Amino acid sequence: MDRVSRYTPPIADQLFLLARVLDCPALLRLPAHAHVDWPTVVQILGEGGRMASHLLAPINAAGDLRPAALIDGRVMTSPGYAAAYRAFADGGWIGLDLPRDRGGQGLPRVVQNAFAEMVNGACVAFGMLPLMQRAAARLLLAHGTPEILEVFVPRLVSGEWAATICISESQAGSDVGRIATRATRGDDGRWRVTGGKIFITFGDQDFTPQIAHLLLARTPDAPPGTRGLSLFVVPSRRIGPDGTPGEANGVTVTRVEHKMGLKGSPTCVMSFDNSLAYPVGAPGAGMRCMFTMVNTMRLEVAMQGVAVAGAATARALAYAAERRQGGPAAEPPPPLASHPDVRSMLLEMRALTEGFRAVVLQTAALLDLAHGSEDEGERRRSLALAEWLLPVGKAAGSEAGFRVANLAVQVFGGHGYISDSGVEQYVRDARVMAIYEGANGIQAIDLVTRKLGGGGERLGLFVDRVMADLHCHQSACPSLADALEVAVADLRVASDWLVARLEKQPRDCEAGARAYLELVAVVALGWMWLRMAGAAPGTSLADTKLATALFVGEQLLPVSSLLRQRVHAGARTLDALALEELCRYPE
Ligand SMILES: Cc1cc2nc3c(=O)[nH]c(=O)nc-3n(C[C@H](O)[C@H](O)[C@H](O)COP(=O)(O)OP(=O)(O)OC[C@H]3O[C@@H](n4cnc5c(N)ncnc54)[C@H](O)[C@@H]3O)c2cc1C
Repeated sequence: MDRVSRYTPPIADQLFLLARVLDCPALLRLPAHAHVDWPTVVQILGEGGRMASHLLAPINAAGDLRPAALIDGRVMTSPGYAAAYRAFADGGWIGLDLPRDRGGQGLPRVVQNAFAEMVNGACVAFGMLPLMQRAAARLLLAHGTPEILEVFVPRLVSGEWAATICISESQAGSDVGRIATRATRGDDGRWRVTGGKIFITFGDQDFTPQIAHLLLARTPDAPPGTRGLSLFVVPSRRIGPDGTPGEANGVTVTRVEHKMGLKGSPTCVMSFDNSLAYPVGAPGAGMRCMFTMVNTMRLEVAMQGVAVAGAATARALAYAAERRQGGPAAEPPPPLASHPDVRSMLLEMRALTEGFRAVVLQTAALLDLAHGSEDEGERRRSLALAEWLLPVGKAAGSEAGFRVANLAVQVFGGHGYISDSGVEQYVRDARVMAIYEGANGIQAIDLVTRKLGGGGERLGLFVDRVMADLHCHQSACPSLADALEVAVADLRVASDWLVARLEKQPRDCEAGARAYLELVAVVALGWMWLRMAGAAPGTSLADTKLATALFVGEQLLPVSSLLRQRVHAGARTLDALALEELCRYPE
């Protein structure tokens, strides 16, 4: 049997969320998006879904079975990738939310994000490349000089050139401040970079003649740590006077890693040898500028998790309706979905997928308001709330992707463990999402130390919004509303506990950071499900939304009190053993 590569785009749920929960039509009235109307959004997402299932889903298995490989110094991508890339770029899909005067289509980010779910649900390994082009274009639009912008951005948006993000080095993973790649300015006034980077996604491929590497490096005499890092764009080939790629620029891929999943996306070890580089942003501001790209990517990694969860859920629901097991021997066996334990798995899958889809799209919608609202107060509040939700969505979305994919394998039983089902690939592909773009433990520390510690405004905005919606939609699902109220109370107590210790007992706060992030995620999940329950009556999704909302209130939200207790535990037990004792394995 051939590997199953099927993808069902979640159009109905996406349109329900955009239209009835997130008020996308109001976003379309913002000046930046006034050229787009709602029927156009519906049409674009419909087309996007068809493209994802017909163009990208078929290459998903090919990437897994025939990973990208280094051949004679060049990366050769998996079968079908180059043709799919050409069609994707020619279809104008790269720059959906980028400005129209730079070749994009000026759609709201929330629409782009919904589209990104379909790309990543069909083939997440492929989706890495257009993600970086978009994120790099955003970065250059925000921080590049007019010359850099003119040369790079239209070519990235059209797909003529590709991009990478070059941060990681062997000694500098989460600890970005230890980057050692050097940037020096020659007598000719031009900058050159020398050093090695690891784990670089699509560091090379066989479908664009030029790659713009967005790279962090240290300049001579720069201070240690992240304050000494500057940002450069390093083309893989030198740029000729007319913009065409010329001679080689000292950029080589020395290895393509063999890895657990995401195999169609080459993960490259790279060397930069005196490579001509163009500065982006001020010297020493590299990290700050790079965050424009990183945050764009974090939002999409959150959506990658949801995307894999959605793809796995669709497969599991269909399988559980079809496959028959159990029941009295004298009768025909009933479908798997009739058994309570299987139902519980299916409902959890729906709850996490649809709930975090809503959380991630809500974050994107807030970013649209943060940049496009005409009301300054709304811009500021929306940005603060989006900044609060971003680490939560990245961590919880990626965890949900892995959890749901794993549950899908369980629903498929032994058949899910067999590669031909195509389901075990979801588990392997999803695993890295909790690691890259800032490991989830680092997201949790960021949430506690920077976002919660930044004066409490973001937490206050979040809790106020949740409570306002709770009162508004209480009658839609009273048991969920009650559970959500308890979870918010747990969150308030845990937050007070952390804030009281942030300065004097930071280690206790770090110890509880992951549980705290999970607590915020649980509240966000309940918040979204209550809003969905409130918006669903009268739609075709009314019954499934209400039943799943009941499940969320009964089965998922009560974990909030356990999470509060875990936050309060602090570091004492964790620190009971000396480091040598902790790490000595009893032989
Ligand atoms: C498939 C893949 C693609 C990637 N693509 C890119 C790319 O395109 N560009 C790029 O630059 N990088 C890329 N990366 C690198 C990725 O961003 C890093 O793997 C990630 O940042 C973690 O760094 P690390 O692997 O060195 O782990 P480490 O930093 O060694 O962390 C290991 C563990 O320790 C924890 N930890 C580390 N420091 C702390 C701390 N201070 N406090 C608490 N816990 C801590 C982490 O949370 C993690 O769980 C990619 C990685 C993979 C696997």
